[in-house]
Amino acid sequence: MIIATGATAKYLGLEAEKKYMGMGVSACATCDGFFYKQKDVAVVGGGDTAAEEATYLAGLCNKVYLIVRRNVLRASKAMQVKIMSTPNIEILWEHQAVDLYGENGVEGVILVRKKGTPEEEKINLKIDGFFLAIGHTPNSEIFKKYLETDTAGYIKTIPGTSKTNVPGIFAAGDVQDPQYRQAVTAAGSGCMAAIDAERYLSDLQK
Ligand SMILES: Cc1cc2nc3c(=O)[nH]c(=O)nc-3n(C[C@H](O)[C@H](O)[C@H](O)COP(=O)(O)OP(=O)(O)OC[C@H]3O[C@@H](n4cnc5c(N)ncnc54)[C@H](O)[C@@H]3O)c2cc1C
Repeated sequence: MIIATGATAKYLGLEAEKKYMGMGVSACATCDGFFYKQKDVAVVGGGDTAAEEATYLAGLCNKVYLIVRRNVLRASKAMQVKIMSTPNIEILWEHQAVDLYGENGVEGVILVRKKGTPEEEKINLKIDGFFLAIGHTPNSEIFKKYLETDTAGYIKTIPGTSKTNVPGIFAAGDVQDPQYRQAVTAAGSGCMAAIDAERYLSDLQK
């Protein structure tokens, strides 16, 4: 059996995210960043993924706003230093995105600063792209009873192979890849799984 059930990006749950999906909303900077060359974008998140996505976009875009819900970043110290020293990244501390607007695509985001406090304030920020970087959920729930997964739920494979801890069960693509999650890496690992499965079956017949 080859498991290739992928990983699902997490969204904030705003109606506007669905409306503008592929029209300014993305959950993959490396995939869609190119479309925002020299434009202004926002990245939502405060962890390592958000820091990496913001740094990547900073190399392409005019301005990158990092929208952080709290007043601290969860990202590693090294990533924080990188973010703070990138001149075209601006961190918007204690901001939450509540809506998006635009005619034929995203033209801006409505933010609330210090939500739920007496200083609460609504802000209209003009942007061309809205990137979610609040994590992915590997679609491994139904296999967790049988297979080893990491703390985030990604199926563990023996390094350099697609083999799981159960002989004859192989995993490929995003469901076993917390790092890259790209079509080309998924396809490559799919090829590895096909070869591993074929060899496994051949060995059974010996
Ligand atoms: C908006 C966006 C843009 C992207 N653009 C690019 C790009 O430009 N270049 C690039 O390289 N990568 C891109 N990616 C990433 C790329 O799409 C993924 O890395 C790739 O699709 C992963 O392949 P996969 O086969 O592992 O999983 P998926 O393509 O997610 O396929 C998993 C399949 O398993 C099915 N499934 C899930 N659970 C079950 C179940 N319990 N039972 C049966 N079936 C199940 C799902 O319905 C789905 O059909 C993008 C991703 C997103 C979200």
